[in-house]
Amino acid sequence: MGEMESRCAVVHYAEIGLKGRNRPFFERTLARNIVRRLDEVGIERVERLSGRMIVYAERPLDLMTWRGALGTVFGIAHFAPAFQVERDLEAVREVVLAHLPSDPVASFRIRASRDDKTFPLTSPQIERELGAAVQERTGWPVRLKGAELVIGVEVLRDRIVVSVGRYPGPGGLPVGVSGRVGLLLSGGIDSPVAGYLALKRGCRVIPIHFHSRPFGNWMGSEARAREIVRAMNAYGMEPYLYVVPIGRQQREITVRTPVAYRVILYRRLMVRVAERLTRREKGKALFTGESLGQVASQTLDSLAVIEQAVEMPVLRPLIGMDKKEIVDIAERIGTFALSQMEGDDCCQFLMPSRVVTHPRLERVLEAEESTDMDRLVEEALAQATRVEVGP
Ligand code: ATP
Ligand code: MG
Repeated sequence: MGEMESRCAVVHYAEIGLKGRNRPFFERTLARNIVRRLDEVGIERVERLSGRMIVYAERPLDLMTWRGALGTVFGIAHFAPAFQVERDLEAVREVVLAHLPSDPVASFRIRASRDDKTFPLTSPQIERELGAAVQERTGWPVRLKGAELVIGVEVLRDRIVVSVGRYPGPGGLPVGVSGRVGLLLSGGIDSPVAGYLALKRGCRVIPIHFHSRPFGNWMGSEARAREIVRAMNAYGMEPYLYVVPIGRQQREITVRTPVAYRVILYRRLMVRVAERLTRREKGKALFTGESLGQVASQTLDSLAVIEQAVEMPVLRPLIGMDKKEIVDIAERIGTFALSQMEGDDCCQFLMPSRVVTHPRLERVLEAEESTDMDRLVEEALAQATRVEVGP
């Protein structure tokens, strides 16, 4: 399509799971998310058709801008920049021919659909006419299934919209259709990926970061978490995070409990505080970046003891993933490099040399009694602040 700019784009969404009354809600949410994502360039309106939408920008946008924006909006199956034409087949033919790729393609097809059935030609007739014109010009073969190039023709009441080519969206469900969740966001590689997967399934994600203030390089830790949240805003993450200093509480745990149980106790402190903050925001579950067996605190026994501390479901979308699979996603979504920023991990800080891999709940409960865990939770909560990061 060369360097051509276009005012509109046709967006297709996956229809799976779209039953009855959920459908308008799904579509409204998707339309709102698209508008929000393209806010900087300005969206004039979104026209909802069946199974697809047409997005009209305030000014022409280049392909990179369309791809950069629509490629990150969950719920989009695929999309294509498009051109508006009057309702005249001759005019449509001209636009199609003018926007064909300069390099030959292995096969192509025209896919016409009529939102307005008063148009004198049927969809198959439009497809045949335009297909013949493209073939005459290029000699490219037509292939109805699996064509390399798809040319879309949307017949509307007052215009025709022509798209050339098709680009993959990120799939998933529009952020917001599945409700709210809290994300335990460290500065590591894993938890941003867990947040990405929560967003992908339509959750609104509220990031919660714990650091070791007043000890260690907590400023680096907070800055790193902020940058990660900022980067993930493109995928629909909220533009703020909760920051909770737990250095003093960690120190108390260190002084008063068996060394091997520290990490488990830090984690139980974190999930409790996170549950309270999430509930405040009407969230219904916690997400973490834990993966089975990755480290000592991620055995089945440890995971069970951690989630025993809270009532909310603790969801772990990375549970069955290898490190390499997680790293691949982190690189693709741009958080991997940010996770390398300097800053202490509040759990490495005061990290014991010995970590229990099969914690026993009775011992955990005993240790919590000797530290007055309830008070530690309240103290940490009282220090929690909401930090805006902006887009
Ligand atoms: P990550 O890469 O996400 O830090 P990890 O492999 O380093 O994960 P752990 O350090 O055991 O694993 O942390 C397990 C999970 O606990 C993290 O994925 C995250 O969800 C949560 N968590 C750990 N530290 C923090 C923190 N400082 N703030 C918020 N959540 C945390
Ligand atoms: Mg970590």
